[in-house]
Formats: sequence, structure tokens, C-alpha cells
Amino acid sequence: MPEKPIAKKSIRDVDVHNKRVLVRVDYNVPMKKGSDQITDDARIRASLPTIGYLRDRGAQVILCSHFGRPDGKVVDTMRLAPIRYRLSYLLGKEVIDAGGPTGAEPRAATERMNPGDVALLENLRFDPREEKNDPTMARELASLGHLFVNDAFGAAHRAHASTAGVAAFLPAVAGMLMAREVEMLGRALNSPDRPVVAVVGGAKVSDKLAVLVNLASRVDRILIGGGMVAEFLRARGHSGGASASLSADVEAAGELMAPGKNKAAVTVPVDAVVAPRFEEHSPAQVVDAAAVPAGALVLDIGTRTSAIYARELSRARTILWNGPMGVFEWDAFARGTKAVAEAIAANKDAVSVVGGGSTAEAVAAFGLADRMTHVSTGGGASLEFLEGKALPGVAALLDA
Ligand code: ADP
Ligand code: MG
Repeated sequence: MPEKPIAKKSIRDVDVHNKRVLVRVDYNVPMKKGSDQITDDARIRASLPTIGYLRDRGAQVILCSHFGRPDGKVVDTMRLAPIRYRLSYLLGKEVIDAGGPTGAEPRAATERMNPGDVALLENLRFDPREEKNDPTMARELASLGHLFVNDAFGAAHRAHASTAGVAAFLPAVAGMLMAREVEMLGRALNSPDRPVVAVVGGAKVSDKLAVLVNLASRVDRILIGGGMVAEFLRARGHSGGASASLSADVEAAGELMAPGKNKAAVTVPVDAVVAPRFEEHSPAQVVDAAAVPAGALVLDIGTRTSAIYARELSRARTILWNGPMGVFEWDAFARGTKAVAEAIAANKDAVSVVGGGSTAEAVAAFGLADRMTHVSTGGGASLEFLEGKALPGVAALLDA
């Protein structure tokens, strides 16, 4: 039976006119090592719709975010100043440095704000109470605003003071990005058009077992790729490949494929790209699934498998994708991931939802991100969502 989709209030459902609004964003952007150069500002740009919506209605926007892992101490290299400058540039308006993130500074700075002003608190994780979800910090943050907006989907799987705790002290609603993430992932998982085809890959089967088990009871077909191919082939009785895999994982793979046990049919590769070593230029060859040499590493799905997966994907009405099909960072092992991305892009009748940090990276690297219905901005959060777990940052929001 389909579950009720998770319905949460968003900023569209509440009055934000001339309100002081505390907005949790995810500005944990990648920076060039040892510098304060932002290498990809996608997460900052992703927050602009919510900021614009609030400013258009005369709200005072008080932004807060974590960055890196300062572990509850002030670490100068993890200050948010570079992010504040980039945001000021993108907004065409100077973003006020509200300091803190807690204590007297933010109060003084935010009391001086005018309608349409935007301020940014200092790195939330400079305060040790943030990651402990300490209610005293949550209350302090809440005291800065009339309303709490969570737009940090990428941090929604953490129960921290600024993601979950603060909602106990203020009405809490989803920002535009959060609302879209929850809607797209929720619909694909809970009330999809069928058939639903899931593609699951990535580095290790142990990382993906919970996702596979959850999807097995919901989707119609699961296409297997990535490092876990070795375990699935072993479970099929093929003896080749490096035997590093734990027997518990092989057993779990076997159970997922057991006929009649799950709703989803599980499709495993019929061929694979193998290499003797885990190296970019290790000599690659395509072999049949039954003929993987002993000791060889399976580093991508093969060409016949790509064609089979593309055909399955062309028939889907809903597609969920988590985990690359191979080591896509290396050209010799990128073809399977690219073939899957292209097949999804080519299916214009399907709703396609991509989750996972590396999968999103791969889709972007192939220039196909715009051809997916939705590419999640939350790596770990999208993974836990696909595992069927409730995300604390989502659960804390007001029900619609
Ligand atoms: P995501 O971040 O999308 O959830 P994962 O973190 O599970 O994905 O896995 C991504 C990593 O898996 C990539 O760095 C990729 O190189 C690696 N990978 C994919 N296929 C294999 C494979 N067959 N063997 C080893 N690593 C793989
Ligand atoms: Mg990952």
C-alpha cells in the first residue's frame, strides 16, 4: 500500500511579511585545499530562491550554516567570510556579518536590520552545543527570529541545534529547496508512477544494503552496479573476482535476488569491465560475468549490461538513481555510469531523481544534470531518505 507522502509546511504556507526569519542553509561548500577559494558555489546559489522570496516580502533574512568540522571550537580557516563575500556578490547586496554564531553579537547585529536585509551568522559548529542538539543553543538561535525556515536538506539527516532543536522554539517550515527535495524524493519513493526502476551502485555493498532492502519492497526493478557487483555475481554462483567480499554481504545479495521474496526484480550485470589493480591505468578488459578472472577487480559494468540497463530505463515512468556504475573518475571505467546517465536523460516520460554525492558529481561531469527531473543536493541526507529513515531536520517541520 502506498504510504502517505511526507507533507510539510513551506514558506509559501505562512505569512513572512516583514518578519525576522532565521534560515538554516547548507553552505558547506568545497574549497581549494589550504585556501579560501570556493571551487563550487552551487550550494550558495541553491539558497537564492528562498532568500529572494523572503526579501521580496520585506522579511529580514538571518542565515546560518555549518562549514567543515571545527569540532566546537573557533577555527580561523573555517570562518564563513569567503562564503559571505560570494553570497553578497550573487545577491548584488552586502550580506551583514552577524558574528557569533551565538552570544551578544548576533543579537546586536540583527536588531539593526531593515526589511530586505540579509545577515549571516558565523559557522554554527564553532559552538560545541550545535552538534549536541543542546536546547540552550536552539533557544538562543530561535530568539533571533519570528519564524524558522530550514533550507538545508544536506544537513537534514543530523539532529543538531540548528536543524532539529530550534523547531521546538519557533514555527518551523521548509524553504524552497528543502520543499522540492522532500517532494521529489518523497514522491519517487512513496507514490510513484510505475514502473519504477532503481539504479543502485557505488563503492561498497555495505554502504548500500539499507537502501537496497528499502527499495526492494517499493520499486519494480533494481539494476545493480558499482563495487557491489562482485558480491551479487558471487551470490549467483560465479567464482571469479577478488574474494575480498564478506560472506555476510554475499548472503544479503542472495536474499535480495531470491525469487518471490521481494517486490523488486533484481538485475545484475551480464558482463563487466575488470582490471588487475585499483589504478587509473590498470589494463581494463570487458569479460562475461561468468568469466571474471580470479583476483580481478570489477570496476565497471560491461557494454552488454549497459545496453540491457538502458532498455529497462527507457520503459520506466519513475527512475531513482543512487551510486555510480563504476569508477567514473577514471575514463577507462566511466562508460557504464555515462550510459546509465544518458539512458535516463533520453527517457522524457519518466520522473528521474538522482541522490548521492558522487552520483550527482558524475551526472554534472557528463553535462546531464539539467536532463534529470531532480538532482538532490544532499549526499548523506538523500541516502538516508532512500533508506526509508525519517530525517530529523524534516520531521521537525510543521505538518501541512
Ligand atoms: P554516492 O556518493 O553517489 O552515494 P558512493 O559514495 O556509494 O556514491 O560511491 C561513489 C564511489 O564509488 C565513487 O568514487 C566511485 O569511484 C566508486 N565506485 C564505483 N564503482 C566502483 C567499483 N566497481 N569498485 C570500486 N569503487 C567503485
Ligand atoms: Mg558518497
